[in-house]
Parts: sequence; C-alpha cells; structure tokens
Amino acid sequence: MARVLIVGAGLTGSLCAALLRREASSPLRLTVWDKAEDSGGRMTTASSPHNPQSTVDLGAQYITCTPHYAKIHQSFYDELLAGGILKPLTSPIDGMVIKEGDCNFVAPHGVSSISKHYLKQSAHQVPVHGKNTGVDCHALLQGIFPTQGLNPMSFTSLALAGADICFRQRVTQINLRNNKWEVSRETGSSEQFDIIVLTMPAPQILQLQGDIANLISECQRQQLESVSYSSRYALGLFYEAGTKIDVPWAGRYITSNPCIRFISIDNKKRNIESSEIGPSLVIHTTVPFGVTYLEHSIEDVQELIFQQLENILPGLPQPVATKCQKWRHSQYFCLENPMDRGAW
Ligand SMILES: Cc1cc2nc3c(=O)[nH]c(=O)nc-3n(C[C@H](O)[C@H](O)[C@H](O)COP(=O)(O)OP(=O)(O)OC[C@H]3O[C@@H](n4cnc5c(N)ncnc54)[C@H](O)[C@@H]3O)c2cc1C
Repeated sequence: MARVLIVGAGLTGSLCAALLRREASSPLRLTVWDKAEDSGGRMTTASSPHNPQSTVDLGAQYITCTPHYAKIHQSFYDELLAGGILKPLTSPIDGMVIKEGDCNFVAPHGVSSISKHYLKQSAHQVPVHGKNTGVDCHALLQGIFPTQGLNPMSFTSLALAGADICFRQRVTQINLRNNKWEVSRETGSSEQFDIIVLTMPAPQILQLQGDIANLISECQRQQLESVSYSSRYALGLFYEAGTKIDVPWAGRYITSNPCIRFISIDNKKRNIESSEIGPSLVIHTTVPFGVTYLEHSIEDVQELIFQQLENILPGLPQPVATKCQKWRHSQYFCLENPMDRGAW
C-alpha cells in the first residue's frame, strides 16, 4: 500500500488529506505530521486556560469568497456553509474594504474548525453530495514533486484508509533511500513514504535538510525564494463573563497607530456572544512593528501592544488570560507581483 505523508495540518494540509480521502479508490496509507500542538496552522484558534469555551482566532479573521473563487470553489463554500462551519459575516468591521461581488464568512466555532472539519473527513468515508470535487489529485501531488514520476493512471485508482494525524512532529530532513522518501523529524525515528506533500510556508520548505535541498530544481528554488511573507504579532485577550466592551463595531482596521493594525471583539465578530462566556479580543500588529520586534521577547512585545491599546480603547479591564503569537511568516506576497500583497 502506498504511503503518503502530508507535512502540515493547516488549511492546505487538511484539505489535501480530505481530497485524497475522497478521490482515491484503492488502498493508500495517509499520514499527517505537524510541528504544532494542534491543527489550523495560520488559521489557529486559541482557548482561554480558564474556560475552553472562550476562544479567539489569532490568525485568519474571515474568509473572503471573491467572484473568481466562487466560480472555481463554490462546492467547498457550499459544503462548509451547509455544515455550519462557515456563516456569513454580518457584524460590522470598521474600515473593511468590500469589493463588489465579494462575500465574507466567519467560522462560529473558530477558524481552526475548518481544518478540523477536513481532517475529520480524511479519517472517514464521507459522501460528497454524490459528485466529484473536480480536483485532480494526481496534479495536486505531481505539482509538488514533479520529479517523483508517479503514474497518473495508478494514482487515480488509489484509495485511502484512515489518516494518522500526529502533532509535535517537526520534519527536519528528507532523503531519498531506495526510491522512497525517508523523512526525519526532531523527535522520533525516521519513516519512509512513497509521496510527500509539503504545505508549510516557502521559507520553511527551503530550510529542510537532506537530499531534498538538491532535488529541488533551480527554477523551483527561485520560485520558492520569490515568495515573501509579512511578519506581525497577534495578541489574544480573554475576559471574565459579564465584562462589557462598549464599542459599536466587532472589528476595526486602525490606520493611525504605529503598532496596532486591527482589533476584533472576536466573539462578537463570530456572532457567539453569551452571558456565560466572557468576551475575547484579538489585536494584530502592523507589519513594520512585527518586523522591528521580530526577535524581541514575547513579554516585551505584549507590554508594548498593551500600551498602544490603552490609547485606542482606554480603560479596558484586565483580561483573565492572554496569548501572544508571533507570525514570522504571516501573509505572503510575491516579489514579482507585489500587488498580490494583502489580496485577501
Ligand atoms: C495574522 C494573520 C491574519 C490572516 N488573516 C487572514 C484572513 O483574514 N483571511 C484569510 O483568508 N487569510 C488570512 N490569513 C492567511 C491564512 O491564515 C493563510 O493563508 C492560511 O491559513 C494558510 O494555510 P496553509 O495550510 O497553507 O499554511 P499554514 O497554516 O502555515 O500551515 C502550515 C503548517 O505546517 C506546519 N509546519 C511548518 N513547518 C513544519 C515542519 N518542519 N514540520 C512539521 N510541520 C510544519 C505548521 O505548524 C502549520 O500548521 C492570515 C494569516 C495571518 C498570520
């Protein structure tokens, strides 16, 4: 039985696992490894240590379906909406630019519920409204490792058993041994796979050691190197039940502060306000702030964000818990086409 490793349990890795599960039709052993403690990647949702029901989206805030995405991916949106994973964004976001034809969605259970939904599907047989998703799995895998020479005919007739999903597994090296990919991780023994799908940000792919460094063609390397990422911090704040944060918006883009770019009353944004669960806030820093303080301690950065927050929302009560996240590789932009920056 062919073994497939997907590195990363963010949106790309999770969806890839679900699509392989749906589209293949004979045995294939699927494994997902992620260095993090949970799924979601940059679509992560953190919980308060005091109340797991109090959550905050630290990365992606809302999903924008443009007319182009609707044309090519409508079945994905339909499925997520039908399952209650996505709901239309109806709360006011100050300063949000809405282009004609765009639809915005939030994930009421936290944005990481999208990855969790797909990972669940990768482990179980799920009928997909009786139709093919139209995604070419062979192209999906071949696109990542075109040197592998997988036979398209053989691939379309593969099927998956359940997926092994393992967290705290950082992949460090990939070597070729007897026509198999031998994958080493920071802890635990190395394992061999027939196919590997790498879904992490481009700079993290380029950091991998072993034969892979030489197997990536010069053209592929240049393409990977041409992808640049912004860096920023996210600060999540959890408050006691009953705390009132009296602002007329659920989210706000800030244009006049050197440190803070975006604030959201996260439970209000997701339309899940409740008298039993306290509000949660997320603050995203500006990119210049993120770049300047990239190597500073999380404690120092958190303090600086708090100082600036006091200027924007004076008199906020003390949160019962905080979670500060550094996004070194936050959102991509292509150097060859800088207009891509912030396209979402
Ligand atoms: C602050 C912020 C705000 C954003 N806002 C929005 C938004 O509003 N709307 C929107 O659509 N998008 C937004 N995005 C972008 C969106 O989050 C990403 O495009 C999307 O989550 C990328 O998913 P991915 O699976 O491709 O990558 P990732 O989510 O980065 O997943 C890669 C996974 O690989 C794992 N990994 C990395 N290296 C290794 C290794 N060596 N071994 C094992 N595992 C590894 C990581 O832990 C991670 O889980 C935002 C991102 C950030 C950071």
